[in-house]
Amino acid sequence: MNRPIVRHAPVVGRVPHLLHGGDYNPDQWRSTKETTWREDMRLARLAGINTLSVGIFAWAALEPEEGRYDFGWLDEILDLMAEHDITAVLATPTGARPGWMSRAYPEVLRVNRDRTRNRHGGRHNHCLTSPVYREKTTAINTALAERYKDHPALGVWHLSNEYGGECHCDLCQERFRAYLQDRFDSLDDLNEAWWSAFWAKTYADWSHIESPSEHGRGEQDIHGLELEWRRFTTEQFVDFYLHETAPLKAITPDVPCTTNLMGTYPGIDYFRLAQVLDVVSWDSYPEWTGTAKDADRGARASFLHDLTRSLKGKPFMLMESSPSATNWRPVAKLHRPGVHLLQSLQAVAHGSDTVQYFQFRKGRGGSEKFHGAVVDHQGTEHTRVFKDVAEVGARLAQLDGVVGTDTPADVAVVYDWHLRWALDEQKGLLQQRTDYEGAVIAHYRAFWEQGVPTDVIDSSLIARPGHLDRYKVLVAPMLYMLRPGVAEAIDAFVQRGGTFVATYATGYVDEHDRTFLGGFPGPLRETLGIWAEEIDALYPEDRNAIEWNGTSYEAVELCELIHAETAEAVGAYGADFYAGRPALTVNRRGEGKAYFIAARTGADFLADFYGALVAEAGVERAVDADLPAGVTAQVRTDGTTDHVFLLNFTPAPAAVEVGGAPVELGPFGTAVVERPRA
Ligand SMILES: [Zn+2]
Repeated sequence: MNRPIVRHAPVVGRVPHLLHGGDYNPDQWRSTKETTWREDMRLARLAGINTLSVGIFAWAALEPEEGRYDFGWLDEILDLMAEHDITAVLATPTGARPGWMSRAYPEVLRVNRDRTRNRHGGRHNHCLTSPVYREKTTAINTALAERYKDHPALGVWHLSNEYGGECHCDLCQERFRAYLQDRFDSLDDLNEAWWSAFWAKTYADWSHIESPSEHGRGEQDIHGLELEWRRFTTEQFVDFYLHETAPLKAITPDVPCTTNLMGTYPGIDYFRLAQVLDVVSWDSYPEWTGTAKDADRGARASFLHDLTRSLKGKPFMLMESSPSATNWRPVAKLHRPGVHLLQSLQAVAHGSDTVQYFQFRKGRGGSEKFHGAVVDHQGTEHTRVFKDVAEVGARLAQLDGVVGTDTPADVAVVYDWHLRWALDEQKGLLQQRTDYEGAVIAHYRAFWEQGVPTDVIDSSLIARPGHLDRYKVLVAPMLYMLRPGVAEAIDAFVQRGGTFVATYATGYVDEHDRTFLGGFPGPLRETLGIWAEEIDALYPEDRNAIEWNGTSYEAVELCELIHAETAEAVGAYGADFYAGRPALTVNRRGEGKAYFIAARTGADFLADFYGALVAEAGVERAVDADLPAGVTAQVRTDGTTDHVFLLNFTPAPAAVEVGGAPVELGPFGTAVVERPRA
């Protein structure tokens, strides 16, 4: 890695520990507060909890009538938390509204794609444009900040909760058109960018443009419209976040602000939203099975943690996770012994400085009354889950040295929201099985299995001047869309000595979702030294093969028919009318190399290919040893001491050699080993 190691400050400056805790809803327990709240404080301390997130969805409790605030209960609970040395992640309550607001101001209610306005209810059911909603938000956020600016418990601001959805009301339509007028120089430019002559969709006036709808013109015919709508929706959330944080920043400038993200949630480009967050936080709910399949789940969860960390390139917060069952999954399976500690240390291994839960005390009613909680309905510390949580608390307390440490990565894998939006809309490759996310994770996993720390970056970071200098290897599965500056940055990376890996379905469309002319992979044709003439989509039962290094590997689903131009063909198709044609190529360019994998393959090919590549490119692994299947190793470092995390995602015991000494891992077992940094 060619960048200096950085030691970051703790999330809350005065707390030099990993934060441990979670969402807590004391407002739901006001009728029994004399007993429940004090007992909660005792139980929290007993579980090694040093933070609780309060006030999420508490607007009706904080402002029961318009303009009449009731902060008494929040004063009391924050005082109790301070008394027990528990830091507050204090939420703005804007994820859901009190009923009085919907009744008095129907404009705050969201309008769906079918142009129907919602009734009151649910959450995230508000228009982000509505001046009334914005005014009410400013008022409550200002009141909260003024009241608690000097409160000793206040540590972090938690904005709303899991931003999501979209609004198609008239106010939002107007704002969308203003966004487009800002983005395009003229209506002619927009028509050209959207290729709107198709099916007579040419716009004659800005006022004719409407957001995508299920009834009539929309994403079915004009892909550029859907793409810009999603970009606009992201900008709406960025703008709303800035609106919400404005009073907090003015009154409490030193308190970090965040909002909790949801992995690869499709509705918002998180790389864009993260630019305005002080610290990134997210909610992780892997579908653990208690079987050998958890290696798949573990790899995916690691990918999502690495993606979240890479949004800002610094430690993040695991804002929510379940200490046991996840009620909204189709199967709410319990965590097997060891799994709770495993998923918690996994987050820390990948850069989280917190382990937080939804939820601390299980509610009696509502749709989440059976979701896992630190304190169950039974109400005491005498449960299996409570003991699991206390074990995590005790383990985290031994890891103060990890706080703020860096995650060095020689490898970056690309995951890009804009590209994903375009792939979601395209008709022609494999409509049902395009599976962009699955393709990215398959490549990521080949590094995960070798214990290679990996960043996950998008086109905006690729194009950022100097950003690629830190990596030795850049892997971009299905780099279908090339946004401005991306091909140039990748070519410069290769010329300087980097190793680039691309696959089928690369370089098809520009930032407006218009295809490149003159041969795919468009602006990357010279870098990769190939021309991709056609792509063959296979039926699920179809098989082809890539013959490479004397082995035949299965090829499935998508096989691109390419010509090696300046590239050397090192692998060939094994079957069908294109048998013998190039399926794997390498182009030597400047000081570096650009590989092209023409077909979708299984994990066997990716493991062998990236195993050889890691050795060839001199990529750093967390431990200098082969890892058993389903086990990964990750590193956090302050530049002097490495903390090596060993994580076993299988129900069988495993052993890993670290620095010549074997480390035993039980079923779903974990270990953290310190060593001086080489
Ligand atoms: Zn709206």
